[in-house]
Order: sequence, then C-alpha cells, then structure tokens
Amino acid sequence: MEKLYADVIIDISHEKLDRPFQYRIPEEMRSILEEGQCVSVPFGSGNRLRKGYVVAVKDTPDWDVEKIKEIAGIVPQGVSIEENQIRLAAFLKKNYGSTMIQAMKTVLPARQSVRPLENRSIKLLADEVQGRELLETCRKKHQPARARLLEELLRFQSLPYPLVTGKLHISPSTIKALEKQGVLAVEKESRYRNPVRLQAHRDERKTLSGEQARIVDTVLKDFDDGRTGVYLIHGITGSGKTEVYMRLIEEILRRGRQAIVLIPEIALTYQTLVRFYSRFGEQVSVLNSSLSLGEKYDQCQRARKGEIQIIIGPRSALFTPFPHIGLIVMDEEHESSYKSESSPKYHARETAQEIARMHGASLVLGSATPSLESYYRARKGEYRLFTLKQRLTGGSLPDVSVVDLREELRQGNHSVFSRKLQGLIEDRLQKKQQIMLFLNRRGYAGFISCRACGHVMKCPNCDVALSEHKGGRLICHYCGHVEPAVRTCPQCGSGYISGFRAGTQQIEDRLKELYPEAVVLRMDADTTRNKDSYERILSAFAAGEADILIGTQMIVKGHDFPNVTLVGVLAADLSLSAGDYRAGERTFALLTQAVGRAGRGNLPGEAVIQTYQPEHYSVTHAAAQDYEGFYEEEILYRELLRYPPVCHMMAVQIFAAEEARGAELAGELAALAGDYADMAEDLTKRLLVIGPAPAAIGKLYNIFRFVFYVKYEKYDKLVEIKDALEEKAAVLFSSKETLQIDFNPVNAF
Ligand code: ADP
Ligand code: ZN
Ligand code: ZN
Repeated sequence: MEKLYADVIIDISHEKLDRPFQYRIPEEMRSILEEGQCVSVPFGSGNRLRKGYVVAVKDTPDWDVEKIKEIAGIVPQGVSIEENQIRLAAFLKKNYGSTMIQAMKTVLPARQSVRPLENRSIKLLADEVQGRELLETCRKKHQPARARLLEELLRFQSLPYPLVTGKLHISPSTIKALEKQGVLAVEKESRYRNPVRLQAHRDERKTLSGEQARIVDTVLKDFDDGRTGVYLIHGITGSGKTEVYMRLIEEILRRGRQAIVLIPEIALTYQTLVRFYSRFGEQVSVLNSSLSLGEKYDQCQRARKGEIQIIIGPRSALFTPFPHIGLIVMDEEHESSYKSESSPKYHARETAQEIARMHGASLVLGSATPSLESYYRARKGEYRLFTLKQRLTGGSLPDVSVVDLREELRQGNHSVFSRKLQGLIEDRLQKKQQIMLFLNRRGYAGFISCRACGHVMKCPNCDVALSEHKGGRLICHYCGHVEPAVRTCPQCGSGYISGFRAGTQQIEDRLKELYPEAVVLRMDADTTRNKDSYERILSAFAAGEADILIGTQMIVKGHDFPNVTLVGVLAADLSLSAGDYRAGERTFALLTQAVGRAGRGNLPGEAVIQTYQPEHYSVTHAAAQDYEGFYEEEILYRELLRYPPVCHMMAVQIFAAEEARGAELAGELAALAGDYADMAEDLTKRLLVIGPAPAAIGKLYNIFRFVFYVKYEKYDKLVEIKDALEEKAAVLFSSKETLQIDFNPVNAF
C-alpha cells in the first residue's frame, strides 16, 4: 500500500477520536510517516498550523481530492504526557492488533463533564467511651454488622459511605438504625470528588524483615543507578508483599515520581484500601468499576495536575496520565483479568513493562502463585526473583487432605460429598464455625471423564481435554480433532464415563437435604446478576448470617473470613479438564487460594480437595503448597507441546455469516501463515499452524466462528504474520466477515 493520505486527530480527547481530518502526505514523508506520529497541519479557514496525531494512513482518499490539504511537517517526539499516551497506543496497536483509534480509546480517558458531586461520609458522634460500650453491647447481642462498623469508626472517626456499604459490607439499613440512635451522622460534602478519604491519618509503618529489606534495597539501588527492571516477588498471602510495595512507593514518591498499583478488582478489599489510605492519605486515589465515567475522568485530571501521586486500580489504571512514573506494582500478577478481552487485547504485564521502559520506572510483580510466564522469565534472568517464605500474620496453613472420588464410588458412595467431607461439615456445624464449599466450574467445562478410574478423554495431538458437543461427539478446541461419543471407558471399561453435571444449585439442594438446619448461601453467576448482590452475599456471610457459603471461583479471592475453618473443593477436576493448556496452572492457583481461605483467623483450618485424579501434579503440589514442584512439572509439559511461555501463541479467529465461506477463508489465512515456516529450521523449533477448526462456540448470533493458532518462539515474527493476515483479509473479506487476533490468549476459543 502506498502511503498517500493520512487521517489526523487534531484534539486528542476521547470523544473526538471518531472525527479525524484527512490530509495528503507530501512525497518526502511517504516512506517515514507512521501511525501515532505527531504532525503539524493547516487547520480551519485561516489555515493556522496545529498539532495533530496520525491515526491511519491510506492509499485512497475518502473525500474530494481537491479539498484535501497537505501535512506541513512532522513534529519530533517529545516527552509530554500526551505524546507518551499516543506512543503507548501505537505500542498496543502494533503488538496486539487493533486500529489506532481503538488503541487511543483504551489509553485516553473519556472526557466527561463532571457535575459537582455529592459525597457522603459517615462520622462517629459518640465519644470513645460511649462507642466502646456500644460496641460491647452489639457483640453481646450478636449484631456483627453494627459491631464491625463501630470498630472501624472508633479507629478512623469518619469513613467514606461507599467504602462502608461496599467494601465493609454494611447495609444502609444498619447505618440508618445507628443514625437514629444518634451514634453516627451521615454527612454530605459537595465538590469533593476523591472517592475515598480517611480523615484520621495513621502511619502503621513496620520495621521490615531482612527478606523484605533486601527487596526494597535492591529495587531502589537499581532505580537510583538508572538500571530499572522487572522484579517478581513470590510470596504466599500474608508474607509481607504489600508492606514491600508501600515502602517502595514511599521512596519513589520521595524522589518526585508517581506510582501505579494494579490489583484485580475482585481482590481490592476494604483492608487493602484502608492500609493505603492510612499510609498515604490524600496522595492516593482509586479507580474501579463502580466509579462513573466522570469520576474516572476526574481522577485522570488530578493525576495529570499532580494532585495525586498514587493510583490503585484494575488493569485500566495503567493508563493514568502521570507525568513521570517511577514504579508500577502488579499484585496477583497471575490473574487472568489482567488480559483485556476486547480489542486491543493487551496484557497488563507486558504493557506495564513498556510503560516502565518509557518512563524509566521499575516494575514489581507479586503473587503467591506466579504465572508460568513470569516464573519462566525469572528463571531465565529477565526478571529478578525474590521469595518471601514466612507468613507474618501468624495463623497457620491449613491441613489439607486429598480425597479420591474413585475410591468413594468403589465404596458405594455416589454422593457429591465424600465421607471425609461430610464428617468435617457436621463437626463445623456443631462448633458453629463456618464452611466454604467451592465448585471450580468455569464458564465452559464440557469434558468427559471416568468416575471409576479418573481417565479424561484428551486430544492425542494437543494433550488438552476434549469437549463434548451435541450428540456426544468429542472435539478438540485447538486442532479440531473429533472423536465419536464414548459409552465405556477406554482405560478400564467402566460405564461410569460421562460429563460432570452437578452445578452449584444442585449442590445447594443436596446440602439442604443433608443438613436441613444449616443456613446456606450460594454465590454464582445466577445469584450475582446485579452488582450489589455480590457484596451483599459476602457481607451476610462475613456477618455470620450463614453457616455455609457455596460458590464458584468468585468466592476464593480477596475477602478474609476469620471464622471459616473448613474449605471443601468439590471436584478439582472441573478446572483441571477445562480444555485449554492453562488448565493445570489455573487449577493449581485456584486450589492454593481455596486452601488458603481456611484458618485465616485464630482457629486452625482444614481443607479437603475431592478429585478423580488425586495423583495429578496440580493437585498434589497444591495440597503440599509447593509452587516450585508444580512449576517444574508444568514447564516440561509446555516445552513438550510448545505452549506459552516456551512459545508464543497467536489465535486467529474468523467470523462469517456463511459457514462454507468461513471455513474457506480460515483455510486460506492458515495457509498464508504456514508459508512463514522456515523449512530449514529444526522441526521442534519451526513455526507451527494448528487448525483451522470450528471455535468452541461454533456459532453465535448466527455468525459462524473458526479459529486457528500459530505457535512460534519469536513474537516479532507473529506480529509480522498478523500484519500480513490483516492485509490479506482487507482484500478477501466482505463486510459480512471479520478477523480477530489474540496474542497468547488466556482462554481457548
Ligand atoms: P501480603 O501482601 O503478602 O499478603 P502483607 O504485606 O499484607 O502481606 O503482610 C501481612 C501482614 O503482616 C500485615 O498485617 C502486615 O501489616 C504485617 N507485616 C508485613 N510486614 C511486616 C513487618 N515487617 N513487621 C511486622 N508486620 C508486618
Ligand atoms: Zn475408567
Ligand atoms: Zn487437538
């Protein structure tokens, strides 16, 4: 394509992005002009020169050629906030595949007129003595929600309303009741738009342990020497990671720089927020999904103007327009929510690395169960690895037992609860301690396994579980391999071979039959349709209003429940056989987290993992809380089958209104990708195309979906192929067909 015309955005605010102006590219710029570059262009009737950014280059004009003006010059790139944002957008576009406009919309905040907001806070009116008396009374009367609120108010005097109803799980009626008694007042403050603020400023700075101090010293020394890099802190919950983050932030702020702290939304707990606020006060702000667009825009403005120095939030907080970032922290770096599901499908880890590079900032990753990617890079020396081994909070790790469900069947127990688990449930109900039961069902888990021997039907090419489709056919979602329905287990001949069908609803029903006196709460996609119900269920459980909480993976993250002393994982196999290569990794992380839920308080905890594959290394290592053991086995599997992080894997999806046409296009594009394989290269290293095959959801809204995967060690090569595929699609595809590309996807398609 010849670069003849350029679409230029004059004013880069989010809502103006769809209205670019077209300019002619003068001959001498044609070889050098690129999307994302800053240009000066004549604008308006006076043709005054203005700065603009190129968002697209084309070979045909969209307008009457006579009316198209010419670009005046290319402006050299500087280091302004805006230019950094645009450069970042160009990075996203190049590495993840999207349009420049989509990429810019991702990095630029939507400009919203912000109404003067009214913020409510809750203020303690009672004095210390009255407050303490009341607290005692509430405790005696078993009013845990009131007690919790009073306790926090006695600590902080005043709390933001949304923090209390949201993260502290206190209902408005509880607040109203205490307001009526004259214990507290709900106050309105206008104009104040910091979503959270604590008036009492308490410094709870700790003396760092030797291990912690070593991390802080190393990162800072590198920073001061201008050798910033990526650091991975591997440490279980409670090992002091957050304390390290906060100390680093303090030091970075002292050097006049700003910090971004990424935390998965679901793990942004009250305790975490309070810690940051009481340490950093007004310098910190939070982005999360409950903020309005206006509030979000406002946070960005405050960051830009230097009113705040720290932002805490999920993935999108990365794009906070700070002038000079010094530190990016990514807690729970293994979480799949760090990967964007919409275009540009960026991963926050790599994007953070790019931002850190642009600003000369340090990137600190932390996790109890690091992603294979990060650990692999740490092993190769690309990341600096630190391990925190001790739990500083006290509270012991729970006793874990693995129950073999095949054995239960052999003993005639057909129930979803093993005898061991039933015994422990009864014991806890009697002791009035709480129980969490966890069904790690992912959105889609149509695998087939044998209940007698544990055998899972797997793809012979890809070593992932096959998925059951209509009529019982088994299909591999990577390569399209098909097997007929099975009636008997190919391993042991048993007829007990089928999919696992029990859902949370059935589990709840069974529990109610077995223990009619127990109060059971259920949390899954059905019971959390609206946004509040998630917090409401957790708050009810935290307040001791139920004996048993049963749920999907939603319940294992974040929140601390000190009275939980038993955790049951009903079928570890559900996530183990999810039909994609990350199943083992995800299971290990989920099991480790689930097990860690028991015994957070003073009472010792126990955990039971039920499974048909008790010998699977994800299960055995999770039960032993042995990350390294798990890593060693998992990485062998990745190496053998060339899955990430050993290779990069690009998913190419084709959507088409007509099935035959979709298949044909997928075939052509896959062949084009295959042409990039270098036949001189060793077969074990050579670029590999897998598929095309119908996608897991082969048809959605009457659109047929096909997918193929390209595996190769060199990312740049895949980017090159992506560009070639897009160019080819531009020629081949009609308006009824689309192409989508995803690098190192977190799910199978
Ligand atoms: P993580 O982020 O790994 O879960 P935290 O930083 O939250 O761990 O630490 C766990 C608990 O230990 C917190 O209550 C914290 O205040 C406390 N803690 C952390 N570091 C220290 C320290 N050096 N001395 C005393 N207590 C500490
Ligand atoms: Zn079998
Ligand atoms: Zn396969």
